[in-house]
Amino acid sequence: MVKNKGLVAKIAPEAEYIIQGKESGAYVFEPHFSSAQRGKATIGDAKVVVLTSNNYLDLATHPEVIVAAKTALEKYGTGTCGARLHNGTTELHVQLEKACAEFFHTEDAVVLSAGYLANLAVISALADDETIIITDQYNHMSIVDGIALTNAQVRIFQHNNLEKLEYILKNSSQFKQKLIVVEGVYSMEGDLAPLDEIVNLSEKYDASLLVDEAHSFGFIGENSCGVADLKNVSDKVHLRMTTFSKSLANVGGCIATDRKTAEYIRHNAHQYIFNASLPPATVAGTLAALKVLKKEPWRQEKLWENTIRFRHGLQKLGLSTMDSCSPIVPIYVGDDQKNMEITKELLAKGVYIATAIFPAVPKNESRLRATITAALSQEDIDFALQKIAEVFQKHGLIA
Ligand code: PMP
Repeated sequence: MVKNKGLVAKIAPEAEYIIQGKESGAYVFEPHFSSAQRGKATIGDAKVVVLTSNNYLDLATHPEVIVAAKTALEKYGTGTCGARLHNGTTELHVQLEKACAEFFHTEDAVVLSAGYLANLAVISALADDETIIITDQYNHMSIVDGIALTNAQVRIFQHNNLEKLEYILKNSSQFKQKLIVVEGVYSMEGDLAPLDEIVNLSEKYDASLLVDEAHSFGFIGENSCGVADLKNVSDKVHLRMTTFSKSLANVGGCIATDRKTAEYIRHNAHQYIFNASLPPATVAGTLAALKVLKKEPWRQEKLWENTIRFRHGLQKLGLSTMDSCSPIVPIYVGDDQKNMEITKELLAKGVYIATAIFPAVPKNESRLRATITAALSQEDIDFALQKIAEVFQKHGLIA
């Protein structure tokens, strides 16, 4: 095998560390699941309670979702083998765009092959060198990467800091376009953006607003379409993004917006033009999940009941859940090494909670990142709390 020596020298220490970790069993990432994940799952041969899954409403194995996906698989085959503007658009893709626009109450919605790509697409298509992008410090990497694809000016404001946001807006009058980017629910903190106030600022300073509702779509707000809905400002947010990989239990993403903006994105976003479209089975599964979500509201209630039980349980143990008020419940640890050891020990006791370390979170702010789903039973949650108590006590992190 030919090796580029410079490249090998650069990557060697980190690659060796990872390989050693995998071989010694110390590696805590990518456990190999051998079943579906419905509250419980199997990893290898071990049964575990899964407290890390974005399958918030337990729709990944819903019979109607499975049948819809299977039917489409048989009708259309595995893939479209093409990009949206060529042979990659089936009638199902069009139906899904319509369904998303209806759900968000917007004129149109553009469907892309991942939530990650949806953020890349909207930001890179709309921002140019006459744009200033004003972005929250804790925005997801898909937003950070989307911004990196532009030649816009970029200003970052401290997480949820409205004074800083206003200060930047006040000093941005020389830019033709201003784009504020925030998340409805922050993916590593589980807290909410103060969207009503951010909307006021966007109006006052004539800035467009993009809200990533990946972790709020489907179970927050009167119409379940996210934090803009909760705060009653949906009609004042120009661009709303969501993914299909969380409460809709599939894969893909969309940007809900007005017709002109949507068509512009379709004809300018490289992620739409140069990327194969979603498999029809996935599109059909997503459409079915959206229908179930509307007709089975008990799933949202169960999700919130579970979330509150888990969060209160942790707080009773004396653990910090930061400012979480969503099904994303971080358990703050701080030290990376300790965090990984805790993850490993919990897994050995039958509880899977993912570890979040740099670059997903700032250095030395590592945490376990639990995500709660409607699939968990009260017994699952209590079992997890018991095991968390044991492991955190052993590490001297609680009395
Ligand atoms: N935005 C946020 C806030 C996310 O948490 C994620 C996924 N973790 C994405 C976008 C990307 O979505 P997907 O994984 O469906 O591509």
